[in-house]
Amino acid sequence: MTSLQAIYGGTFDPVHYGHLKPVEILANQIGLSKVIIIPNNVPPHRPQPEASSEQRKRMVELAIADKPLFVLDERELKRDAPSWTALTLKEMRAEVGPQKPLAFIIGQDSLLNFPTWHQYDTILDNAHLIVTRRPGYPLEMAEEQHQRWLENHLTWDIENLHSLPAGKIYLAETPWFDISATIIRERLERGEPCDDLLPEAVLEYIHQQGLYQAG
Ligand code: ATP
Repeated sequence: MTSLQAIYGGTFDPVHYGHLKPVEILANQIGLSKVIIIPNNVPPHRPQPEASSEQRKRMVELAIADKPLFVLDERELKRDAPSWTALTLKEMRAEVGPQKPLAFIIGQDSLLNFPTWHQYDTILDNAHLIVTRRPGYPLEMAEEQHQRWLENHLTWDIENLHSLPAGKIYLAETPWFDISATIIRERLERGEPCDDLLPEAVLEYIHQQGLYQAG
């Protein structure tokens, strides 16, 4: 198999096992050589993350410090403009050239609202889309035209992800992790333990920075 690189975007406010574990399992299942984590820049008119860009970046660094599969890419944090995935993938495609396979990983919840993303239909020009499972969300798109779009690009053959540079959607069979950043922030505000939800180094940093506290 070729070396398939994947890109994983998100707010990561904070990064947690619901992000890391499905992707680590996926990497073993389909043979990912590298996963590039790209934290979003959240534009001023959108609901702001509780942690600053610097803090979200630092939490990702701490979470992946002992995990060679992952690397951090700060390009969206450094951008002043909104974080359009379509734009980021176009840029990354230009960097690697037309032949190299690239994949963009999203959770099942993100697949459902994917058609609302800026220029979503151009994303498959530059990368495959790999969807990890997440409990509580259907795998069917709400609108028929979007379901057709999904089915037109669907593949169950991992080899396609390695041999084609882009254009396929793969619904991965990763286990469910019932974890969200929202739940973690709420638990921390109430002073409840979160040890099994995110890496210890990230939790220590959260406490040290006084993040996600009540009031
Ligand atoms: P929030 O609760 O603040 O909305 P989140 O936990 O959903 O945050 P994001 O940073 O918004 O995390 O998500 C980044 C990516 O990770 C998205 O593609 C999302 O679908 C995926 N993801 C997040 N949590 C899970 C999970 N438990 N299982 C699978 N995918 C997940």
